[in-house]
Amino acid sequence: MQEENMVPEVPETEEAQEEESTATTHDRELSCQNCGAPLAYMEGENVITCPYCGTATMLAGYDNIVKIDGHSMLPMEVNENGAISALTTWLAKGFYRSKSYVASAKIETVKGLMLPYWIVKSTASTSWHGKNKKTRTTGSGDNKKTHTYYEPVSGRFSEDFTWPEYARETSDEFWGIANIQPGKQSIFPDWGKFWLRFGGSKQSPNRNLLEGQIPFDIETVKNAGMADDLVNGQITQERAESNARGNIKEHQAKKAESKANVLTDVDTTVNVNKVDLVYVPMWEMKYFIDGKKYSAIVNGTKEEVLSAEFPVSKKAKITIFDVVLGIPAAVSGFIGFGQGNPIAKYVLFALVGLMLAYSLTKGLGSKN
Ligand SMILES: [Zn+2]
Repeated sequence: MQEENMVPEVPETEEAQEEESTATTHDRELSCQNCGAPLAYMEGENVITCPYCGTATMLAGYDNIVKIDGHSMLPMEVNENGAISALTTWLAKGFYRSKSYVASAKIETVKGLMLPYWIVKSTASTSWHGKNKKTRTTGSGDNKKTHTYYEPVSGRFSEDFTWPEYARETSDEFWGIANIQPGKQSIFPDWGKFWLRFGGSKQSPNRNLLEGQIPFDIETVKNAGMADDLVNGQITQERAESNARGNIKEHQAKKAESKANVLTDVDTTVNVNKVDLVYVPMWEMKYFIDGKKYSAIVNGTKEEVLSAEFPVSKKAKITIFDVVLGIPAAVSGFIGFGQGNPIAKYVLFALVGLMLAYSLTKGLGSKN
């Protein structure tokens, strides 16, 4: 679209035809209220950022077009190579992953995105009531009795949020977008056929997505080569705010569950201070390890893996296998040799044999 605007006469070439077919993927058009440029968008999209002057417009209903003032962005500070390096560094680190992945990982695609989020800045205050189970012993000797009773407990807690609500209807257009909400699983280990699945997954922290935000600046976006990667929003500010209220209440209710044995009542008040449209730069990546495809998203502001799938290293599996079998082996060894129990001796030898066999076959077969 940008090309078409700068070149008044488009020659009848294959390229021009291609342009025409891209235009049909955007079935609606609107004029930018600030600079008058044509803004192409799809049906259902209602938060549109002008790729020429950067003005954000919201279609809040029939004939109701509003300019969005709270419009900011996180600077795109990671380039394509930086995104690849963030992923490979991450793959080499930790108990579950392996340095040898870095050599065998094949990056298939690295796609830059400027994604629209509504950031709902708010404070949530939660009060809860519940009861805790207690026991009391009375009497002594034969008259000793234990009574169980419940003691009422209550409390309140509050938390500040810069709650991100993704501004599009479906988060599966780009992999991993739904996972960066606080409390959602963001790291997905692939255990293959291995059945002793201990750990390796992680949840998203309550991170401040507004940290380092700057006013939206289209020149910065153009300089980073991302002006064509601006993704329009489909969810209006009003809906985002209401969704955030619901999600924050759910988040607080889950937190309250740990406060008492039985929770009878939870009430959360959410005070919204500000709702901003923030464009967040991300890198969506697809990569292969040992012929299997995995996905990841890397933060575009700093080299950080936000969400990813990864294969659990063979080294980690062997360690888990040996630890799990090692404990009964040690117990059998103690009973077998310490107390001279012949069956326990056989159990020990069987377990040690299994551990050795597993470690050797898996360990020798792969570098991971
Ligand atoms: Zn404009």
